Parts: sequence; C-alpha cells; structure tokens
Amino acid sequence: MTKRPSVLIVDDRPENLITLEALLEPFNLDIVRATSGAEALAHTLDYDFALVLLDVQMPGMDGYEVAELLRGNKKTKSIPIIFVTARSKAETQIFRGYESGAVDYMFKPLEPIVFNGKVRVFIELYEQKEALRRKTIEFDQKLAELEELQQQLEETNEQLLMLSTTDGLTGLYNKRRFEEIFSEEWERASRTETSLSLIMLDIDHFKLYNDSFGHHLGDDCLRSVAKALRQMELRELDRIARVGGEEFAIVLPDTDPQGAELVAERVRKVISELRIPHNEASGREIVTASFGVSSILPTRHLSSRYLAEAADEALYESKSKNRNCVTFKECMTCWEYAQD
Ligand SMILES: [Mg+2]
Repeated sequence: MTKRPSVLIVDDRPENLITLEALLEPFNLDIVRATSGAEALAHTLDYDFALVLLDVQMPGMDGYEVAELLRGNKKTKSIPIIFVTARSKAETQIFRGYESGAVDYMFKPLEPIVFNGKVRVFIELYEQKEALRRKTIEFDQKLAELEELQQQLEETNEQLLMLSTTDGLTGLYNKRRFEEIFSEEWERASRTETSLSLIMLDIDHFKLYNDSFGHHLGDDCLRSVAKALRQMELRELDRIARVGGEEFAIVLPDTDPQGAELVAERVRKVISELRIPHNEASGREIVTASFGVSSILPTRHLSSRYLAEAADEALYESKSKNRNCVTFKECMTCWEYAQD
C-alpha cells in the first residue's frame, strides 16, 4: 500500500488555512497545518512532505526565514515550496522568495483553477519520485538476493568440484582425478624430457582384515593409512590418490627409479609403523602394504598406460613374494618403443 502524499500548509490566520484545505479537497492528500514558522519546522521532523504551501507574512519567523531553514536542512532541502502571499507583485519580493528556494509563487486571493494546476504538478512529481524510490529499493533487494544466490552457486560448484575429484572416505584424490593427473604429468614430462615415476600400493590381506573386524574398522584402517600418507609431506608436485578399495597410487614427477624406490620404501615403513593390529590368521601382526614402482622418460607417441601396467606388474610381484615389500620394474614396453 502506498500512503497518501503529505502536504504542509502554513498560515498565521486559521481562516486562510481553511481556504487552503478546501482548495486541496479534490486531491487525495494528508494535510498537516501549522500557524507559525516554528510549528511548520517542527512538523518536518515527523513527515516527508510532498509540498509546502507557505504564507509569507507571519509574526515572528516569516515565510522567507522558514524557507531558508528548510533549504539548509538535509532532510527538507528538496521539498518544493509555494509561497502564498497577499503582498504586491513587486519584483523585489518575488526575487527574495526565489533566493530562499521557492519553487513557485501564488497570490491571495487564490484562483482555484491556477491553484489546482500548480499543486497537481507537484503532487505528480512527488508520486513519480516515490515510485522511483520504491523501485530502487526493490531493485537493490533483488540485487542483494542475486548476489547471495551467485555466492551460493559458487560454493555449490566448489563443493561439487571437490566431490568429483576427492575420495569421500580418505579425502585423497579419487581414481577419476588420478587419471587426469597422471595424463597431465605424462604430457608435462614428455615436454620437459624428465622422468616420471609411479608407485602403486595395496594393503596386504585387506579382505581378511575386513572379514575379521568388519567394514567399519576396515574404513578406519584405510583412513589411518591415508592420513599417514598425507602427513609424510612429500613434495607438493607428488600426488596421492585412492584408486581402488585398498589400493593407492602416488605420482612422482621428475623422479628417477632410485628416487621412486626410496619414496616407496619410506611409505612402506610409515604404514608398518602405524602398527595397526591385523588378524593373526593372516600370518601378520600388523597392517602392511605391498608396493610396485616403475619409472620412465615419457615421449608423446607412447601411451601412459605402459607405465601404469609396469607398476601394476611390480605390485603383483611384491604380492607373490612375501608382501610388505617394494618391487621396481622397468617399463619394458616403453624402452622397446623408445629404442626404435
Ligand atoms: Mg499571514
């Protein structure tokens, strides 16, 4: 609901106020009366007037003084003022009125048609201004809502991205992200002609562990291993992923076979040092892992899967030995191609 525009009428003579009120009757206005300049100013504290009809000649503070004070105040400085005066139309008087910020002049006795026409213009201007102000507020609110939605969207996208690249159980990269990283690193190593190494590791007898202690503790075990891997503080460019149930992969850019084997050996020790108790039926007191390592100087005409397969074969060898060990395997297929 929009409220009616308020108009302030100021005159020291009550009968003049009655005349003004009668003339304003056709407009749907909230009329506020004042019989002195001081009273008029006091009303401006409580209302936002669309228009002030101001008598010039008043005892005490006259109309010009009231107008000057209204112009000097931030809240009231843009309220239109129409001076209503019985004075002569002497030009000096009119100029004085404009100096104090009058918007218009009318002379008593007021002529209804002229009066109505003038008042209507100001009321319409006021209503347009109000409508614009409301639209601006609405617009600002919509803008704020939009900004909030935008931020929510960004947060959701971030979460989605994280979910799509992260393994929910361990917080490490997932298989999908691992494959991206692996092929990115392959490309980079081909460009920079540096060696790329891959470690595959698998928790020993994990099925037996799960069967003995249940999946809940199985998950705890995987989380502990993942946490230990993260806390090893490998180089920032080395990336760890969980690529299967109990299988992890570590991509080591710019790392030669010796370096990769050293890292694998460190990881093997870190996992056994966790001393997570295993079911003795496995023949082991604690949880351990087996490792397969391979290394290559990649070239673009080769597929990265050769390196992955070599590391997998090496891991298989570790399993077929007594587990809890590191096996390095040359990436033979690659060498054959590379020597062509
Ligand atoms: Mg008067």
